[in-house]
Amino acid sequence: MPETVSAATASPLTNLSEDEILFRDNIRQFAEEKLRPLVKEMDEKGVFDKGLVQDFFQLGLMGIEIPEQFGGSGGRFFEAILAVEELSRVDASAGVIVDVHNTLVNNAFLRWANAEQKKRFLPRMAADTCGAYALSEAGSGSDAFALQTKAELKGSDYILNGRKLWITNAKEAGLFILFATVDPSAGYKGITAFIVEKDFPGFTVGKKEDKLGIRASSTCELILEDCKVPQSNVLGEVGKGYKIAIETLNEGRIGIAAQMLGVARGAWEYACKYAQERKQLGKAISEFQGIQFQIAQMGTEIEAARLMVYNAARMKDAGMPFVKEAAMAKLFASQVAERVTSLAIEIYGGYGFTKDYPVEKYWRDAKIGKIYEGTSNMQLATIAKLVLGK
Ligand SMILES: Cc1cc2nc3c(=O)[nH]c(=O)nc-3n(C[C@H](O)[C@H](O)[C@H](O)COP(=O)(O)OP(=O)(O)OC[C@H]3O[C@@H](n4cnc5c(N)ncnc54)[C@H](O)[C@@H]3O)c2cc1C
Repeated sequence: MPETVSAATASPLTNLSEDEILFRDNIRQFAEEKLRPLVKEMDEKGVFDKGLVQDFFQLGLMGIEIPEQFGGSGGRFFEAILAVEELSRVDASAGVIVDVHNTLVNNAFLRWANAEQKKRFLPRMAADTCGAYALSEAGSGSDAFALQTKAELKGSDYILNGRKLWITNAKEAGLFILFATVDPSAGYKGITAFIVEKDFPGFTVGKKEDKLGIRASSTCELILEDCKVPQSNVLGEVGKGYKIAIETLNEGRIGIAAQMLGVARGAWEYACKYAQERKQLGKAISEFQGIQFQIAQMGTEIEAARLMVYNAARMKDAGMPFVKEAAMAKLFASQVAERVTSLAIEIYGGYGFTKDYPVEKYWRDAKIGKIYEGTSNMQLATIAKLVLGK
């Protein structure tokens, strides 16, 4: 692909098409009217509202890139990014549910499922079945391919044994893209992706984590005890699961970057509003240059993060190589989210430190951006490898 386009077709990265504006505005309205009133309670209880997940399906947010023939919206990756950003501006847990479902699970189906699997699963993914993506284990996080879950072929089924940890959407999901090894001695070349359904014998969703942030998003252990998975549920080729994992996570990272962008925006908007309302020394604190500069700095960093996120997503949609840009976007957007949400608390003063005001939650929610779908160190390793050609 050429790196340049003619002046006539080049347009600002943040310029949205009419369809994109309509799509974004619909989600924004939904997030304000339906999601925002539930955010505090969901965070306190650590449970995501079931009705909202149904709303995501009804709004077409769970099949953004799924072709219309399978009941999806036939949209582009960029729209998924817009959806994650807009939802996360109000609640990062809502953002990650839609993110994992679209950018990891649906994407894996779209790229690696065979025709029969697409016909069998895509209509459900677009209509009513929430997806989860199960790679990590207790002993394998950054070193994901050290996973221990085993898959043994017996007759026409694989028998899976092992445990997965930290699985987002586990409580809501009906279907899991789950990675196991068919041959531990083969290293990463034994890793295979399986489509596991919630009601398969030998499959259990285990303990739910009690977390610092994104508390309403379920993060659970998965237990596989002689779990029977039909051979026809192997996604892609046996032994090629590592490729599926690497490539889906490359895309997923842009989604997490969008989540962090939304989190930063949400906190910044609150801080801007509060600064204009709160009076000290006889005037709004936004009249003080010190506060103005903080708000300006936050806005600038958000804009830089947005450009990186949108560019990476548009590069992906254009079929260009995007791995470095995706890693950079996630690295930077998660740093911005942490800085901006922290400053937002400071702008709120003592009130910001309490749960009566919304900004402390944004700060807690920001922390995960540097950890999942590859820690910041792993993003730096990817970027360094691509920059230095190692
Ligand atoms: C809320 C939440 C949701 C999650 N959702 C999912 C999910 O849906 N599916 C899934 O499969 N996983 C999920 N994860 C797992 C997540 O992807 C891992 O936690 C993450 O990859 C880090 O792995 P780890 O926790 O084992 O940390 P480790 O890999 O043990 O890392 C610990 C520290 O060591 C550093 N480190 C490790 N290796 C290197 C290296 N080579 N160079 C430099 N530094 C290094 C890391 O950067 C980190 O700072 C989730 C985790 C959380 C907390």
